Amino acid sequence: MANIVILGAGLGGLPMAYEMKDLARKEDRVIVVSDKDYYHFVPSNPWVAVDWRKREDISVPLEVPLSKRKIDLKVGTVSRVEPEKNQLVFEEGDTLNYDHLIIATGPKLAFDEIEGLGPEGFTESVCHIDHAEPAREKWKQFCEKPGPIVVGAVQMASCFGPAYEFAFIMDADLRKRKIRDQVPMTFVTSEPYIGHLGLGGVGDSKAMLESELRKHHMDWICNAKIEKVEDGLMHVLECDENGEEKKRHELPFNYSMMLPAFTGIDAVKNVEGLVNPRGFILIDDHQCNPTYRNIWGIGVAVAIAPPKATPVPTGVPKTGFMIESMVTATAHNIRARLNGDEEKAKATWNAVCLADMGDTGLAFVAMPQIPPRNVNWMKGGKWVHLAKIAFEKYFLHKIRSGVSEPVYEKMLMKSLGITKLK
Ligand SMILES: Cc1cc2nc3c(=O)[nH]c(=O)nc-3n(C[C@H](O)[C@H](O)[C@H](O)COP(=O)(O)OP(=O)(O)OC[C@H]3O[C@@H](n4cnc5c(N)ncnc54)[C@H](O)[C@@H]3O)c2cc1C
Repeated sequence: MANIVILGAGLGGLPMAYEMKDLARKEDRVIVVSDKDYYHFVPSNPWVAVDWRKREDISVPLEVPLSKRKIDLKVGTVSRVEPEKNQLVFEEGDTLNYDHLIIATGPKLAFDEIEGLGPEGFTESVCHIDHAEPAREKWKQFCEKPGPIVVGAVQMASCFGPAYEFAFIMDADLRKRKIRDQVPMTFVTSEPYIGHLGLGGVGDSKAMLESELRKHHMDWICNAKIEKVEDGLMHVLECDENGEEKKRHELPFNYSMMLPAFTGIDAVKNVEGLVNPRGFILIDDHQCNPTYRNIWGIGVAVAIAPPKATPVPTGVPKTGFMIESMVTATAHNIRARLNGDEEKAKATWNAVCLADMGDTGLAFVAMPQIPPRNVNWMKGGKWVHLAKIAFEKYFLHKIRSGVSEPVYEKMLMKSLGITKLK
């Protein structure tokens, strides 16, 4: 009998629990550990922030689907992972032992790396439902008294898609309210060019996203480092291609959302051999940590090196399709180990994404994620917005019903007509 512990109940952790339960032996125990007693669908948070969704629309209490699948749940915040003891230590002081540990904790949001950034400073966040809700209250106040918006992603950010999404979603909401004419918008990003996305661009993403920003009357600043944020004022250093100072900007704003840099969570920071200097889990080709061979990593928590250094540092996004393939590979590899076999399954490092733009959208496929690629494709249209809504419903259905079928693979790839290109 093995204790298989999944730390984190997010977009990676819950599907991991379902797939692991399918593949584990009858006598094995699958345990989910989460600091929240609910799941929430992170990609819908930008919609919560403009009041197009409520918390209850996008969250699922964990108890029911997990007990239905006979998966144990421990709600608590892990303060330390102790690989030498095969143990998790909780904030409350209690411990949990594991035979296999899958770390699926997503990111720690590094607002503290920039003075004045984030919900405790002067900018909003859509990374968590607990941030998107106060961002919505601010949004309502802003719409009463509109003014300039600054939106984008800071230095060391890796998740650029949601910054573009939120810019276009705000634009769509302001147009609906007929107050867009009172709101100058500036997109500020550490990317070397619009549409880089931490991926060196995908298809025509540069031209397409520049064109969309122009069509939606948004200015932009690339190669941007945020020096500090004050109440209603962002201090931005625009750099040249060598990362040296090109121009300083002081951007006034009445509303701002900036995607922060991500790091690994505190519970794993500085654990020698487990993490890189930013606290991301080191993994081999089979999702397994090279030092601690019973620890596995999936999702945003894992370390991926950027394809090419950018003048202002950026990271590589870890998106749903890729996370799903990490989940499947990990479940098969753990089962192989339980059988006494060698792990062989590998995740497919592909990026497939639907980026919502409020009433239209952009879809992209990067296979593999790092160029040069076999498939390098981006297309836009209203169908992407509708596909994203359908996808949200389908994914939440999967979480509620506890089924382990790979949703990204089944739905996203099929809707894009690219199932044969895997
Ligand atoms: C705003 C936003 C929009 C996005 N939109 C898309 C999209 O449209 N398409 C796409 O493909 N990707 C998207 N992504 C990227 C990615 O798919 C998501 O970030 C996804 O949620 C990552 O999944 P994860 O399982 O790695 O982390 P998460 O979903 O963040 O889950 C982490 C889990 O770990 C738990 N946890 C953390 N620390 C502890 C601790 N110490 N103890 C116990 N539990 C802990 C958390 O509570 C959470 O349950 C988006 C990201 C963001 C931020």
